Amino acid sequence: MSAALSIDAWKSQAAGLAYRNQAFIDGHYVAAASGETFDCINPATGKVLTRVAACDNEDVDRAVRAARAAFDKGVWSRRSGAERKKVLLRFAELIDEHATELALLETLDMGKPIRDSSKIDIPLSAACIRWYAEAIDKVYDEIAPTGPEAISLIRREPLGVVGAVVPWNFPLLMASWKIGPALATGNSMVLKPAEQSPLTALRIAELAAEAGIPAGVFNVVPGFGETAGQALGRHMDVDCIAFTGSAEVGKYFLKYAGESNMKRVSLECGGKSPNIIMADAPDLDAAATAAAWGIFFNQGEVCNAGSRLIVEESVKDRVLEKVMAVGRKLQPGDPLDPKTAMGAMVDVTQLHRVLDYIEVGEKEGAKLVLGGQRVRGETGGYYIEPTVFDQVDNRMRIAQEEIFGPVLATISFKDPDEAVKIGNDTIYGLAAAVWTRDITKALKTARNLRAGVVWVNCFDNGHISSPFGGFKQSGFGRDKSLHAMDKYTELKATWIHIGN
Ligand code: NDP
Repeated sequence: MSAALSIDAWKSQAAGLAYRNQAFIDGHYVAAASGETFDCINPATGKVLTRVAACDNEDVDRAVRAARAAFDKGVWSRRSGAERKKVLLRFAELIDEHATELALLETLDMGKPIRDSSKIDIPLSAACIRWYAEAIDKVYDEIAPTGPEAISLIRREPLGVVGAVVPWNFPLLMASWKIGPALATGNSMVLKPAEQSPLTALRIAELAAEAGIPAGVFNVVPGFGETAGQALGRHMDVDCIAFTGSAEVGKYFLKYAGESNMKRVSLECGGKSPNIIMADAPDLDAAATAAAWGIFFNQGEVCNAGSRLIVEESVKDRVLEKVMAVGRKLQPGDPLDPKTAMGAMVDVTQLHRVLDYIEVGEKEGAKLVLGGQRVRGETGGYYIEPTVFDQVDNRMRIAQEEIFGPVLATISFKDPDEAVKIGNDTIYGLAAAVWTRDITKALKTARNLRAGVVWVNCFDNGHISSPFGGFKQSGFGRDKSLHAMDKYTELKATWIHIGN
């Protein structure tokens, strides 16, 4: 079992890894038409792992044409739910069988601890694909209550070609949240992974083929956002873009759609999630521990990270002390060490972006009470200490902008209405949490917080059956749950006149 491996065992397996570094189009690995490649860097060392095909318009067009041809032939789109289920279950099984290799690829590529990639990212990716496989032969269509002279069949049909553009923070998991429902409902796909983390997407392409997903149905085009991503967003024969990433790039996809074929767009664009701890929380220590993990997990590179700790003034010092105690223990380490709970930032750009925000926080007058420094610089990697600011005003940039690093902004409040007001006072609305033992206060706060998910007396809990997505500029459309299938299907009414 991968979780039981020692650091030496992980390192020796890493040394023997082979990387898939070409695009996967129409069932084959191919170089980019231009022959261009880009460096794929290990953020734990700053060293190049491999060079990956840099896809552009021509490659994206080939992938979309292959996806369309497969869709039109019906090799996948017209197979029964039960048949697609069988293939997708095998696909999930193959991901599980290759979990050690995939976890290594994820950790080497984006710097997250191996204990997370092996216990969270890869198993949850397989579980997600399995869940949609299991669901697809159990969802029924509808008949409208039109009256006796007609029968209106309301059917959900696959859209056609789905373009998925995903980020680097949970590379395979974010892709799987789109692959599961898009393929289960019969679409063809073109997936563009982030330039920082293309390796697992490229590896699972051949596992998909091995499982029996026909050529052309699942394609992967690595490359840059401005080239490969934009080409997909503007393509006239892509029916839908499913995106996860920054709000800034999410808005580009709306523009691309408007300037091309009005393709459907769904956006999951991050947040600045408020984690509200009331003085009457059932267990303040548990709340503080969850608050620390809520911001430091995955190096803070989490769209729903609890980056704003909004805590009742009377208990603030006690909560903050515990948060810092957890933070002190979470010092970054070698991601391949199974004991490491915090790894490296994804790349040098993200490292400097986070360090710049720490400087901004100090200049804005917030009080730095923990961390704030780059560490382990001698490794060549991009590590930052768990960082906590106290005395933050919600109008500060560190309270308003998505930092995407291990940086917590602490804001205090005196009454619950004020907490909700502060919680809602950002452009985002992805997630929020409230800690209180008073059920009325909990439900009222949950109702009044404008967010797609509100946790009560916990943080970042979830299940594949429960939808995930945002309000406001956190985007629209939902990943996970049966609702995600709506994104990848079109309603068709077939009206049959039968007369009196
Ligand atoms: P981006 O939003 O830039 O990247 C997300 C995806 O969009 C990647 O596949 C990227 O490709 C692609 N992309 C980037 N620019 C374009 C473009 N002009 N047209 C089409 N596609 C594009 O996130 P970053 O990686 O740059 O991170 C910046 C910030 O975004 C983070 O600090 C964080 O605040 C936020 N973010 C939020 C995430 C979330 O889960 N909500 C995830 C990742 C980032 P490529 O990487 O190849 O350029």
